[in-house]
Amino acid sequence: LEVIGAPYFNRSHDLRGAVLVFHDVTEFKRLEQMRKDFVANVSHELRTPITSIKGFAETMLEDDLDKDLRVRFLSIIYKESHRLQLLIQDLLDLSKLEKSAFQLNYQTVNMDHLIQESVEMAKVQAKEKDIRLVIEGDTNLTLLADYDRLKQVILNLIYNAINYTPSEGIVTISITDALGYIKVDVSDNGMGIDAASIPRIFERFYRVDKARSRNTGGTGLGLSIAKHIIEAHQGRIDVHSEVDKGSIFTIVLPKEQA
Ligand code: ADP
Repeated sequence: LEVIGAPYFNRSHDLRGAVLVFHDVTEFKRLEQMRKDFVANVSHELRTPITSIKGFAETMLEDDLDKDLRVRFLSIIYKESHRLQLLIQDLLDLSKLEKSAFQLNYQTVNMDHLIQESVEMAKVQAKEKDIRLVIEGDTNLTLLADYDRLKQVILNLIYNAINYTPSEGIVTISITDALGYIKVDVSDNGMGIDAASIPRIFERFYRVDKARSRNTGGTGLGLSIAKHIIEAHQGRIDVHSEVDKGSIFTIVLPKEQA
């Protein structure tokens, strides 16, 4: 609470009282804190790969390393530059989505086509872990949406499901017609998310397990980007999850736009 006060006097300069203005700055402070945290997070996320790239490059310049070690160091440098690239892409994407001038490119989207294409793209990653991708439900539906943005969200949910599920798991994409809405569930039988983390996973850079997410190449921004895209469509994204059982991410989208 911010308080501004001033005494007031009558014409003969006698003190008559005081005016106090109470200003509720809770929301302002919260937003300011979020902005500060975001800048600190971005700096940290950028610094970690850069420190590693610089360190390995320096060692390679200074020491005469054998071929094996050179390859090992170079592959670390490659991996870390790739991480930086993904992070910068996600940051640019997020800033684009947060601009008020941001516009979706609405078109008639055939769900079957969108799901088939997404599953096709995720196949390589699924195969590496022996994970089965299953499509269920009424895929023969259309809605008005931004095809590329919607595909980006679904693909992101499928990649997450693969990343956070042990080998030989199952990832199911199921589509339901819900009277004016389309519901898409992406479920897995993987590690799940603890109850305390569930309300936070759509926050920028929030990860249940930082080390694990970095190893799988995650930037920690995917779900907040997904939430932005779905909300821009006047839809909703939610999660139900249980540790060691699995997770269900649900998207509900209106078929037509108001
Ligand atoms: P990341 O790039 O780290 O995957 P996201 O924003 O996509 O970032 O997800 C945020 C966090 O939510 C992840 O780090 C992970 O801890 C958790 N998460 C997301 N999807 C799943 C899932 N299907 N199963 C378990 N945990 C998940």
